[in-house]
Amino acid sequence: LIKLEKVKKIFYTEEVETHALSNITFTINKGEYISISGPSGCGKSTLLSLLGLLDTSTEGKYTLAGHEVSNISKKERARIRNEEIGFIFQSFNLISDLDVEENVELPLTYRSNLDKNQRKEMVKKALEKVDMAHRGKHFPSQLSGGQQQRVAVARAIAGNPSILLADEPTGNLDTKNAEAVMDLLDKLHAEGATICMVTHDPRSASRAERRIDVLDGLVVADKKMNIAEKVVAMETSNEAKAVEAE
Ligand code: ATP
Ligand code: MG
Repeated sequence: LIKLEKVKKIFYTEEVETHALSNITFTINKGEYISISGPSGCGKSTLLSLLGLLDTSTEGKYTLAGHEVSNISKKERARIRNEEIGFIFQSFNLISDLDVEENVELPLTYRSNLDKNQRKEMVKKALEKVDMAHRGKHFPSQLSGGQQQRVAVARAIAGNPSILLADEPTGNLDTKNAEAVMDLLDKLHAEGATICMVTHDPRSASRAERRIDVLDGLVVADKKMNIAEKVVAMETSNEAKAVEAE
């Protein structure tokens, strides 16, 4: 589904060059659930932005759902992004003066092939999936953080994207709401969604079936998680929580 080959990203700011991604090569298969971990500043968000066509690489090749997208126009990139990518942010990024239904519908309005009725139907289906259909006319400020993130998930899945990208989706949530959002991602994965999620939280990471570790702009580990490793990650996380609570 996704193929990155020798991808580099350099940021140029006031005579400073930041090599955010040094040399990244990997593939993502349809239906995989991947977590990306690594220390602050190692390039995780940069990587996710490139995957989500929110930014372009300095060098290297990126193929997404059969499209070679490394060197395409801005307009073409926006079109492919709208059709193929669902993005979930740490801070939800809902638009405060649009209600829930309008927020979920917004990305669909950029798709020339959908009429109003089709869009309404897709919005309804997406909100039902995240159990937020009853809050359609609410505004983001009238929802809890967990509810806002569920609406953001609905917005991300409404257009049936090829891949769901999530950058610290539980970073702004308490444990209970975080679990609910992770349960929701599990459900979407079970229904066939391809998910790639950046997370600091070992408990969230343990939900995925493949784990990629990034360090200084490089992939330093990429492995399938077996059940035993998932249990260890859960237990480590539980111990950390117990220490925190003391
Ligand atoms: P965190 O865990 O703190 O979110 P991260 O792994 O997501 O960190 P990135 O945001 O990808 O890290 O940043 C990687 C490096 O690139 C950092 O050194 C950062 O300062 C730099 N960087 C990121 N975005 C830009 C930008 N727009 N302009 C200049 N430098 C940037
Ligand atoms: Mg980040």
